Amino acid sequence: MGPMRLVIIGGGILGTAHALAAVRRGHEVVQLERETEARGATVRNFGLVWVSGRTTAELALTLRSRELWEEIGGKVPGVGFRPAGSMTLVRTPVELAVAEAATAGPSAEARGFELLDPERVRAINPALRGKFLAGLHCSTDAAVESRQALPALRAYLAATGRYTFHAGTEARSVEDTAAGAVVRDDHGRRFDADLVLACPGAAHGGLTRELVDDLPVRRVRLQMMQTAPLGEPLTTAIADGDSFRYYPGFAGEQVDALNREQSQSATAAEHKMQLLCVQRLHGGLTIGDTHEYDEPFAFDVDEAPYEHLTAVTEELLGRPLPQVVRRWAGVYSQSVDPTALVTRAKAGEHTWVVTGPGGRGMTLGPALGEQTADLLNL
Ligand SMILES: Cc1cc2nc3c(=O)[nH]c(=O)nc-3n(C[C@H](O)[C@H](O)[C@H](O)COP(=O)(O)OP(=O)(O)OC[C@H]3O[C@@H](n4cnc5c(N)ncnc54)[C@H](O)[C@@H]3O)c2cc1C
Repeated sequence: MGPMRLVIIGGGILGTAHALAAVRRGHEVVQLERETEARGATVRNFGLVWVSGRTTAELALTLRSRELWEEIGGKVPGVGFRPAGSMTLVRTPVELAVAEAATAGPSAEARGFELLDPERVRAINPALRGKFLAGLHCSTDAAVESRQALPALRAYLAATGRYTFHAGTEARSVEDTAAGAVVRDDHGRRFDADLVLACPGAAHGGLTRELVDDLPVRRVRLQMMQTAPLGEPLTTAIADGDSFRYYPGFAGEQVDALNREQSQSATAAEHKMQLLCVQRLHGGLTIGDTHEYDEPFAFDVDEAPYEHLTAVTEELLGRPLPQVVRRWAGVYSQSVDPTALVTRAKAGEHTWVVTGPGGRGMTLGPALGEQTADLLNL
């Protein structure tokens, strides 16, 4: 098949990863983003390429995506890829049992799991001077810089001569024709395509609903914060034992015991929290998160979760946090079927909607783009 013309709707990581996969295969891509710069989940996330918590069924695709991120990072230094790994710090015997089970599991080696005593934790990450029993090190976890990755990827794509980005351009309709599809935008322009891929993130209404009606997806809202520079390196991302409750890769008898025998703090339980923390390249820490499932979502951020996150991080670091300089919330689209890595819905002979990667969309983006390209024989 000769080169095709693709129109991709949505400028987040899914749209951009699909653009990468298509351009890589020799096709031409026009990408439309309704905002002047993407401002959905992709620029609000931790930038964690998180292998540790994914289920065994998801592991091959996750590792493939990490490999693609590393390759992209080599070609596009602006994405800020770093193979920093992660340390999940356990503070109680029931949490320790989950970490032990993880290191004994069949995929422990593929994930690069190792259980370390506090001294060995500090040999890898000297900033962890606080209170914990042990650390579950995951050497395959990695990070990228969410707020700079998209422009960097677009500059790389534009240099191929086969990619055009239109910011401030909302796709308003997609009409299938015999030969392809026509996208119309809110400036009255039309874009002719052989194939249209809509990656609208959590915008489940509007054009998305017109194209595919109600998708089997829901929206999830998270609260986040960022500190001033720490003044020292935090060499790995860190997580607390509550993360075992949320990441399906740890599910099993030990997590059942954790849920049964150790309750979360009232704030953490109310806001369905875990601690994740990653150092940005400028030295500040991105810290979260909460999970809110019931709409309408709050339009303001709630202070109690931030107090919890600050207390836990300070306990693990054994020092006060630098000043918090930013707080925000983000919403992602999650497939209702927990085993679905993403939701792909056919809207017409030449039109697909792809969304719902949930809390792993940054991790899986590159591999999902490649998978769609394979499925559609691009
Ligand atoms: C706070 C938070 C933390 C997270 N942390 C992580 C993490 O560390 N690791 C991880 O793997 N995942 C993480 N995730 C999940 C991940 O960020 C998302 O799964 C992923 O970014 C989704 O990408 P997307 O391109 O589908 O959506 P988005 O990034 O939301 O992009 C969709 C874009 O489409 C545009 N759009 C919609 N409709 C139209 C239209 N009609 N015309 C033109 N443009 C349109 C929107 O403006 C938007 O910019 C996190 C999510 C949140 C919210």
